[in-house]
Amino acid sequence: MSSNTHVAAIILAAGSGSRSGSSMPKQYRALAGRPLLAHSLAAMRGHGRIAQIVLVVPAGGEAEGRALLGDRVDRLRIVEGGETRRLSVHNALEALVPDAPDHVLIHDSARPRLPSAVIDRLLAALDGGAKGAMPVLPVADTLVVAQEALAGDVVDRAMLRRVQTPQAFDFAAILAAHRGWTSAQEPTDDAQMLRAAGQDVLLVEGDAALEKITYPGDHERMELQLSEAMVSRTGMGFDVHRLVAGEELWLGGLLIPHSRGLSGHSDADVAIHALVDAILGALAEGDIGSHFPPSDPQWRGARSEHFLAYAVERVAARGGRIDHVDVTIICEAPKIGPHRDAMRRRLAEILGVAEGRVSVKATTTERLGLTGRGEGIAAQAVATVRLPEGD
Ligand code: MG
Repeated sequence: MSSNTHVAAIILAAGSGSRSGSSMPKQYRALAGRPLLAHSLAAMRGHGRIAQIVLVVPAGGEAEGRALLGDRVDRLRIVEGGETRRLSVHNALEALVPDAPDHVLIHDSARPRLPSAVIDRLLAALDGGAKGAMPVLPVADTLVVAQEALAGDVVDRAMLRRVQTPQAFDFAAILAAHRGWTSAQEPTDDAQMLRAAGQDVLLVEGDAALEKITYPGDHERMELQLSEAMVSRTGMGFDVHRLVAGEELWLGGLLIPHSRGLSGHSDADVAIHALVDAILGALAEGDIGSHFPPSDPQWRGARSEHFLAYAVERVAARGGRIDHVDVTIICEAPKIGPHRDAMRRRLAEILGVAEGRVSVKATTTERLGLTGRGEGIAAQAVATVRLPEGD
């Protein structure tokens, strides 16, 4: 059953964020370099069983949501929320009716760290026949009833669980619960609605990473946790272009006066090409040729700095950051030394990092081989990139 079930996900980002102490809705505030809601979006997209995602934004906020998410809106439906959480979820469920998913996950974007193992546990519960499931954690602290400023009786915490999202449901069952809701009281989550409709909700193990950003200070704490949790990736790149008469010499983003220039489909900036491949390598996203095929006429004569800017955008889209790059240019002539600092400045500018994170080196091959004979220039590069854990 599991392989054939159609699973949809709803991400709620319709709140005003009034408790988080910021004027910008908290779901749009940048966390580790991308809007908060983009984190849950990436987690849902990264899960192999989720076929479609509906993002619920504040009423009137669709254009803003699209603008903030940029190319991340691809394959995503954006729905405007209602006046309450319940109405927002209901809008999203109705939007999914034509697709008739079997299961639906309903998630709060204020919980940006969403381990795929939690999604697995929820879907396993539904595959096993449950109509609803939610992740919970035990309560570790002693709980007491507050009587004004005085401590009252201790509450038995063994019976209590902290409820997280996503909550997972049989689509028809949760849709019916929403359509049939008549109570004047607003539920705080969907599991309560399913229970009110007479169905059981299964408890599965939650995860401490699923912490919710609610109060001032939560965002900063999460930022710190995420940066500590980032993993370092290293990529390498190598490229060679032929030196010919009558061509301009573009190297490291600079036009360098020389008797000959590099030939290629683009401006043939061999140093930038090696660097782009190093960055794409760190992302494990193929190579420069797969993103900018030489067979595509639109890249004829293109300035290579556009390729580098694209690689930088890919890092940002993954929520990552560039820690350091190191480029080695291999040629007998021209001399690179006099241009080294200008190259570092130019590359740092395109990369959007401090110059101290950009190294440019040069060497010869002692007049041996293709570079030694002056037939071409070679370059190699290494890029160190940090990416969110699990990305
Ligand atoms: Mg090349």
